[in-house]
Amino acid sequence: MITRTVPSWHQALTNAFRDPGELAQYLQIDPRVFHSKQSPDSGFSMLVPRGFAHRMEKQNPKDPLLLQVIPRIEESHTAPGFCMDPVGDSAATMEPGLLHKYHGRALLIATGACSIHCRYCFRRHFPYPDSNTGGHNISRAIEYLAAHQEVDEVILSGGDPLMLSDSTLQEMICSLEQIGHIKRLRIHSRIPITLPERITPELADILSRSRFQTIVVVHSNHANELDQSVTLATKMLSQQGITLLNQSVLLREVNDSAEALLQLSTRLFSIGVLPYYLHMLDRVQGATHFEVSAKEAMFIHEQLLESLPGYLVPKLVYEKTGAKSKLALSM
Ligand SMILES: *Cc1c(COP(=O)(O)O)cnc(C)c1O
Ligand code: SF4
Repeated sequence: MITRTVPSWHQALTNAFRDPGELAQYLQIDPRVFHSKQSPDSGFSMLVPRGFAHRMEKQNPKDPLLLQVIPRIEESHTAPGFCMDPVGDSAATMEPGLLHKYHGRALLIATGACSIHCRYCFRRHFPYPDSNTGGHNISRAIEYLAAHQEVDEVILSGGDPLMLSDSTLQEMICSLEQIGHIKRLRIHSRIPITLPERITPELADILSRSRFQTIVVVHSNHANELDQSVTLATKMLSQQGITLLNQSVLLREVNDSAEALLQLSTRLFSIGVLPYYLHMLDRVQGATHFEVSAKEAMFIHEQLLESLPGYLVPKLVYEKTGAKSKLALSM
């Protein structure tokens, strides 16, 4: 008998929580506290891998991990300034799935898929089906990159690029390797945190075999996200010489205190990851309830500077349409 082996991370995704009621039941929380059945925005329904849910505290409706992923009635609130494309991605799209905003680096939307649906995500309204480099679009992106000598770093983003199969990733990396002026490959992925099973020795090998200097920028917002399974994943990557950085989003009720961020930075460093950016929330429609004011943000950041060595303090930044880089927020 032939048994086909399904990668365990596929299995983990299949088993993920998709029903808010079920997640509430698992956490022993009354589902009515969220006043939500399912987000009206059906393209962005709840998705939470069990391993991630396992790190939430039972019977705590304010758990910082839970608040990032549970659809809430507040998502239907609108506010001035909150819109569908808050960071000007449409204007920066040079080819389908290729964003070129900043000097020297270009970003590929490798796929629209994610392992988890973060309710504050600024790409929740992004028109993914027409705008990723999967399939035939990749050749147009490659042509663009080949013609732009000044680009020495390519960022695979999404969605989450590690949702792609090993073979698709391998092909993408091979195509990029043909372009001599590209020196660095950067991968923006929340998967080492949310679906650490995906980080296999085979994947680490694919990343380490390329001629590029490789950087993986993970996305963690709270120290409770970083358990033993995440440690194994980051170790596997760092052992291959991959540089590991983290970006977080400053989120109301999730990590809006110096204490929470201090713990996050020190935990990250203990598993080989350096804090890189702390982003102000992008003002995407449906995320008003996550916003922290600039004044509060600067106050929290100031406290971090006063209590941590400089290398453990992420840069507090925001995005402004048309700017040549992410912009620092400072007093
Ligand atoms: C954030 C971002 C980058 C990366 O910026 P760095 O400051 O180099 O981390 C690149 N391209 C786009 C379109 C981005 O949004
Ligand atoms: S993993 Fe990243 S891209 Fe995907 S929903 Fe979360 S924040 Fe958005």
